[in-house]
Amino acid sequence: MTEHQDDRAPLVDLAPKRWQCCHCGGTGVDSYSETCLHCEGLGFC
Ligand SMILES: [Zn+2]
Ligand SMILES: [Zn+2]
Repeated sequence: MTEHQDDRAPLVDLAPKRWQCCHCGGTGVDSYSETCLHCEGLGFC
């Protein structure tokens, strides 16, 4: 006898809303040691 759990768990996106910046790679600093303009130093965009 299998107990079928019928509570439908919504697919929750575990991924953060923001993603690792495609420009600085998440460091927040670009190749010139300047604050990444893409993410403004956050490392995410
Ligand atoms: Zn980016
Ligand atoms: Zn960036």
